[in-house]
Parts: sequence; structure tokens; C-alpha cells
Amino acid sequence: MKDNNKEIKNKDKDEGECIFCKISKGEINVDKIYENENFFSFPDANPVAKGHSLIIPKNHFKTALDLPSSLGQELLDCIKNTTMKLMKEDESIDGFNIVSNNFPSAGQAVHHVHFHIIPRKKDDGKILSLHDKK
Ligand code: 5GP
Ligand code: ZN
Repeated sequence: MKDNNKEIKNKDKDEGECIFCKISKGEINVDKIYENENFFSFPDANPVAKGHSLIIPKNHFKTALDLPSSLGQELLDCIKNTTMKLMKEDESIDGFNIVSNNFPSAGQAVHHVHFHIIPRKKDDGKILSLHDKK
């Protein structure tokens, strides 16, 4: 599969306006939770649960479909280390959801691919269901 270098350079023309690119470039300050070569994580500005965090690639890719498969291992590394850090800092977290909205119909508001880590606690009353309401 030839999906890495060419796609890494193929940055989106909207990049200049992208809020997550501004964060990635340090133009907007965030408290990084974890960082590796191509990804980092930081707290979501509008948390739906305590510790709600976002994982983003440092370079601009619109959706998960644009993300080179070769970065999969680093993505998982960032997801795991971020979540473990959150769970270590708050021992009452005993579960988590990983959510990624891709394209507007799926609710993607920021068009720089990102993965939400939503810490969960037993009986926290949150409902994250893929099933239609009956
Ligand atoms: P989406 O709906 O695209 O999956 O989620 C985008 C997320 O990015 C939202 O949860 C929103 O709160 C978060 N967000 C948008 N702008 C900023 C920002 O400037 N800083 C931070 N930390 N989070 C942001
Ligand atoms: Zn971007």
C-alpha cells in the first residue's frame, strides 16, 4: 500500500483557517496531555464529561479516510497513552468511549480529523447509543 509520504504532504487548502492546525502550530495554546511524532492530545473546550479529550494528527487531514494507514500505530499509541493518563489522574474513571465523527452528516464540526476520548464512570447517566430512539 502506498499511502504515506505523498498523503502526508497533501495538506488541505483550508489548513490556514483550521482551528486544530492553529493549535498544532502553537498559535493557540492548549495543555497537551500526550504527544508523539505525528499526534497529540488536549482537553476538549466543551467537555461532555470530566476529562473529555481530543486526539489529533499534527498535520491537516480532513477525515479518517485521509489519514495514512502507516500512522495507525502512532494513533493507537496516542489514544492509549492519553486514556491511561486520564484514568491514572482520576481513578473513578472505569470506562471510556472513543468517538470520531467523519463528514458533516456524522456530526463532524471541525474538519481536521480527531478522536474524542470520553471518560466514563459506572452509572454516570450518559447515554451514547448508536441505536435509533424508539
Ligand atoms: P466534532 O463535532 O467535530 O467531532 O467535535 C469537535 C470538537 O472540538 C468539539 O467537541 C469542540 O468542543 C472541540 N473544539 C472546537 N474548537 C476547539 C478549540 O479551539 N479548542 C479545544 N480545546 N476544543 C475545541
Ligand atoms: Zn487542520
